[in-house]
Amino acid sequence: MTVRFQAFHSIRSLDDSQVLLNWSGTNPLARVEQVVRPRSEQELQRCLTEAPTRRLRLVGSTLSFEPIHSVFDDPDALLVDLCYLSGQVAVGERSVTYRAGTPLDTVYAELVAMNRMLPASPGVIGIQTLGGALSTGTHGQGLAQSSLCDAVLALRVMLASGEIITVDRSDERFGAFVMGLGCLGVLLEVTLATVPNRIMRCRKLTTDAQWLRDQHEPLNRQHAFVKSWWFAWTGECHLWLVDPASDEEVARYHANGDQPLTLSVAADASMNATVDQTLAKMARDTKDEAHAGEHFETVRRFKDASDLVGNVYQLLCKGIPAPQINCEIAVPLERMDEAFALLDSWQQANPGVLHYPFILRCCGPSNAWLSPAYGREVCWIGFLVYLAADGTFVGGSLDQMHELQRLLAPLGGVPHFGKHLALDLYDFARQLPRWNDFVALRQQLDPAGRFSNPWLETLFSAKPEA
Ligand SMILES: Cc1cc2nc3c(=O)[nH]c(=O)nc-3n(C[C@H](O)[C@H](O)[C@H](O)COP(=O)(O)OP(=O)(O)OC[C@H]3O[C@@H](n4cnc5c(N)ncnc54)[C@H](O)[C@@H]3O)c2cc1C
Repeated sequence: MTVRFQAFHSIRSLDDSQVLLNWSGTNPLARVEQVVRPRSEQELQRCLTEAPTRRLRLVGSTLSFEPIHSVFDDPDALLVDLCYLSGQVAVGERSVTYRAGTPLDTVYAELVAMNRMLPASPGVIGIQTLGGALSTGTHGQGLAQSSLCDAVLALRVMLASGEIITVDRSDERFGAFVMGLGCLGVLLEVTLATVPNRIMRCRKLTTDAQWLRDQHEPLNRQHAFVKSWWFAWTGECHLWLVDPASDEEVARYHANGDQPLTLSVAADASMNATVDQTLAKMARDTKDEAHAGEHFETVRRFKDASDLVGNVYQLLCKGIPAPQINCEIAVPLERMDEAFALLDSWQQANPGVLHYPFILRCCGPSNAWLSPAYGREVCWIGFLVYLAADGTFVGGSLDQMHELQRLLAPLGGVPHFGKHLALDLYDFARQLPRWNDFVALRQQLDPAGRFSNPWLETLFSAKPEA
């Protein structure tokens, strides 16, 4: 069994109580005495059955920014941490089954050891739990895939009643359970499809914004995984184009002990001056003139860029998790040109505001009912603000994030539910075709709202302000 360390959880004194906060330390989740860590499914079941009206939220690695997993408002409610319900359950020829509390990093490492991978691109980091990552629709990039949810074959789920059911792709409710925001039941076990491991080459290049704007969709159609960082204040873009490596590159990778292989083409220093300026602004904004925080590394890595060969996890899932307010809006791919224009105008009107580039990641259609990519190709547009060591952020950040969302929402933009989102801006029932079906299923499975909290109640009643 793999048990997560609790290093990601921050605990602080608040109102005479010791309080568990979300990973970025911005939202209280529960008083420590409300946190339970069941060691078996029977113990978890008792949390549900011994007090049939008690509310309960589930928690993985607590990374979600909004209080989606908070029970702080209700001292009688429980916060159930599934860290002991983790580890591999079964391996099939083309599938694996894990308990939902397993960290993604563990899943990825064990798959690679079996020379397998998921048919879904990983996100930037792998410290999320499988259950938490699925429940908010965690994704990477690539139009030929969508999100981790779309690699799922079946789920074992404990309902609010304590009953355990299996939901597979033949179940018409599958698309709801696979990304349920922790509202339909507790994910216990997840069976994922696997495919043979593929060694890839990551080509890195720097371009200007107009070139990216013209080539954005063709590039995403031509290459397996495309990730772009748009430094809107300089008009530069840094791109990663990831495709299967050649036989010769694969052989060299294996000769390198299966460690990421830097290709001996000349390093690209064209981003270096921009990176230095960005680091200086970030230092001022996060009150860290010594550049000690980990967030600096997320920009420093754009210096002296070199092409790499490795597996998808070595290439794409090596982000540096640093406390932040992050926000990501999925815009229909066909409206990306309008999004480029809106963001460009916003940048011109607000010079000197951003301290991290816009991150662009395209994904194909998803089967998850609540996914912003449900039934459509999207481009995820990410923007973030790093926090200072004392947990504060540079003044006006949330207003700017609100403004960026206000610009993107009318394009059909829908936010990531595990990141920051402004609930007043979105008409989810209009944007997500299965939203009302999800609401009805939630009502049917959890009529007493045992898996609810005030933030979720607001989410499910959200209507944009006129
Ligand atoms: C630094 C950073 C980088 C990130 N990178 C990416 C990225 O590249 N791509 C991306 O898409 N997202 C990304 N995210 C968002 C992140 O993947 C989501 O917030 C994810 O939900 C976090 O997983 P977690 O285990 O921390 O879940 P938590 O935040 O603890 O919980 C998330 C939700 O899942 C529910 N839940 C947890 N476990 C279960 C369970 N077993 N059964 C049912 N419900 C459950 C909780 O109740 C809650 O509603 C990033 C976030 C951060 C902070």
